[in-house]
Amino acid sequence: MYKGKFKVITGLGNKDKNKVKDLVLIWMKAGADIFDTSIEVMPYIQEEAKKAGFNLDDYIFCVSIPIEGDIHGKKAKIIKDKCNLCNLCKKVCVDNAINPPFVDELKCIGCSRCFDVCGNNAIKMYDDKIAFEKPFDKNIKLDMVEVHISIDDIDKIKKDYKKIIDVFNDRNVTISVCLNRKCFSNDTVIKLLSELKEMTNKPFIVQADGNPMNGANEDIKSTIETLAFGNFVKNLGYEVVLSGGTNKYTAELAGKMNLDCSIGFGSYIRKMTDNKDKDEAIKIAFDFVKRTKELLNAKQC
Ligand code: SF4
Ligand code: SF4
Repeated sequence: MYKGKFKVITGLGNKDKNKVKDLVLIWMKAGADIFDTSIEVMPYIQEEAKKAGFNLDDYIFCVSIPIEGDIHGKKAKIIKDKCNLCNLCKKVCVDNAINPPFVDELKCIGCSRCFDVCGNNAIKMYDDKIAFEKPFDKNIKLDMVEVHISIDDIDKIKKDYKKIIDVFNDRNVTISVCLNRKCFSNDTVIKLLSELKEMTNKPFIVQADGNPMNGANEDIKSTIETLAFGNFVKNLGYEVVLSGGTNKYTAELAGKMNLDCSIGFGSYIRKMTDNKDKDEAIKIAFDFVKRTKELLNAKQC
């Protein structure tokens, strides 16, 4: 259903409407297929895309919702009296969301890079409140709802997952489960996916989040885990989208593995077009989408 597609992940926590809009319009123009945003910005994105002359039916729209505790639903906060303004956190933030002692909540995607480098324990990660209980206006095009899971409490996962998917019962959507590889053994992945699939009668796919929030790294190591995890999930019989550590190597390696899948790119492509002149950004994006789809769809043997 979604094989060979290019997915743009704008960042579940990225609620800077204008920044997300600029990114989405560039990648729409460049030929990307699936657009995955937070639930809060989706209506605005679609309104702006229509104004810019895009036909929404040519694209697939996905909203991402975290189960409480999921890393994608976190935000960073600086505890001012512990911060010595050394700026180490600012240097590692790829989303320009931190300027000590302040964090721009709209831009922060909760990657925790700042948390990891702060030697003063001055950064606290907290769960953002997501308002997903109100279903979308029917005029908002919605093709997919993605539930993000990176906690290991199975009972809580199933309870929260049900609460989320029930909100979209009357919508004709695919349910996507984004599973963080680092949280589960193979046996738990097998059991959990089977149970989550059973809980819905809608089309069901899996986003294999191999190395969450590491796509900003330009190396093969970053993407190996998502390929291995994607292959594992694929062999269980699920349709797969790769994410987490996806970068310029992912499509080539997925093609070589004959891993019929789609690829979601997040921070890697956000960095690629950031601070570029619009035409230059579209050209860069177009070339990357074209190359990715060619490699993904090339049968190696
Ligand atoms: S790394 Fe820690 S101490 Fe340094 S500026 Fe950031 S929050 Fe403050
Ligand atoms: S480094 Fe990550 S968690 Fe920290 S402020 Fe930037 S986006 Fe937020």
